[in-house]
Amino acid sequence: MRIAVLGAGIVGVSTAYELAIDSHQVTVFERHAMVAEAASFANAGVVAPGYVTPWAAPGMPGKVIRHLLARHAPVRLLRPLAATDLGWMRRWLRACEPGAYAANRTRLQRLALYSRQQLHQVSADLACDFERSDGYLVLLRGEQERRLVQPGLALLRELGLAFHEISGDEARQIEPALHPDTPLAAAIHLPQDEVGNCRQFAVILRDAAQALGARFCFNTPVARLDPAAPATLELAGEPAPQGFDAIVLCAGVQSAALLRPLGIRLPLRPVYGYSISAPIPEPLHAPRSGVMDERHKVAITRIGQRVRVAGSAELGGRAEAINPGAVRTLYKVLHDWYPAAARLSAGVQVWKGARPMLPDGPPSIGASGIPGLWLNLGHGSSGWALACGSARVLADQIAGQAPAIDTEGLGLARYG
Ligand SMILES: Cc1cc2nc3c(=O)[nH]c(=O)nc-3n(C[C@H](O)[C@H](O)[C@H](O)COP(=O)(O)OP(=O)(O)OC[C@H]3O[C@@H](n4cnc5c(N)ncnc54)[C@H](O)[C@@H]3O)c2cc1C
Repeated sequence: MRIAVLGAGIVGVSTAYELAIDSHQVTVFERHAMVAEAASFANAGVVAPGYVTPWAAPGMPGKVIRHLLARHAPVRLLRPLAATDLGWMRRWLRACEPGAYAANRTRLQRLALYSRQQLHQVSADLACDFERSDGYLVLLRGEQERRLVQPGLALLRELGLAFHEISGDEARQIEPALHPDTPLAAAIHLPQDEVGNCRQFAVILRDAAQALGARFCFNTPVARLDPAAPATLELAGEPAPQGFDAIVLCAGVQSAALLRPLGIRLPLRPVYGYSISAPIPEPLHAPRSGVMDERHKVAITRIGQRVRVAGSAELGGRAEAINPGAVRTLYKVLHDWYPAAARLSAGVQVWKGARPMLPDGPPSIGASGIPGLWLNLGHGSSGWALACGSARVLADQIAGQAPAIDTEGLGLARYG
């Protein structure tokens, strides 16, 4: 089939690769000059299926309200808040109900486990070398954090995922550069989880897809999808629309606006986060792989010769405005745990990214209900961890074969 993929973030590029593997004639349209220039640009790089859970969870509304008043709050509501943000919050509140949470958690983790397997499969198939490291450590500063993670640990046990509850001293043996003066009550060690450079992997996948015949059209924004002919694309500056047998929409946070004229109202909103990346002057002082400060919900990861600190969840506000408070929190957490890990005098990259977030958690993968139009979008805070599995699932659906995992609840039907 002639298939157009709209968007070259990690989800679009993974999709293009899997479709090219299936011998389709693939064309990718991307408004930026390169792959992974939007949300996939400088994320934390964590692939930890046990921690891929919905943000809509029982007890979360109370936590969010308490966080709003904290100085180093992991969650922030900023003005202006759009009416669509308020609608999104109403749906998010409904999804915090225990039954909805349990169902969405199961869906997400099924996909995340499959996706890690696919990431390993694709890496092995391509024999590719990219910046990655094994192991993930969740740092519990005090007793309160230790208590709060218990339900999550019960879930990891239920899923049969490998993890160890360890003391602060044991954690310091795994990550010897952790600052000895910062109190560390305990940690959770996930030896099978990992950190990888999402953007670098997207470049590798682009090359592999191109080698299989896929075509990438950069600097090519898709102006709109035509309700009368949804499998044709109107490209800005092109006189005539281009026709395809199928279109896969992987346009991240822009997807909702592209779907609206087709009558599909998707509750997809940007939830902004930040990262700082800086060169590592001396590897002995840097993380070996990845850690997550559970109190501040900030991840510190090793990305090759750089350290990356990522976190914050902001709803509302302006895409281009950097919130100095959120960035300060990243520096604080880096300083608490790895004060000598990064050279901060020059060459620090400060980045703001928009997580394409659906209110209930799982992404939307599959048929749109409109002939020829398929969706692979809304991967929220875990698009890197979910990309390879989501892409294979979608390619199987397009091929008319059963995906390797149950896809119940991943489609649009859950929004009525
Ligand atoms: C601070 C932060 C930390 C994160 N950490 C992690 C992590 O540790 N692990 C993890 O798994 N995930 C993490 N994420 C989430 C992850 O980065 C995202 O889920 C993922 O990048 C989404 O990928 P995507 O391809 O759907 O979207 P994007 O990467 O945004 O790609 C969408 C693409 O579509 C293009 N596009 C949009 N509209 C059009 C149009 N009209 N025409 C042409 N092109 C168009 C855009 O330019 C863009 O390139 C993090 C996110 C943030 C912000």
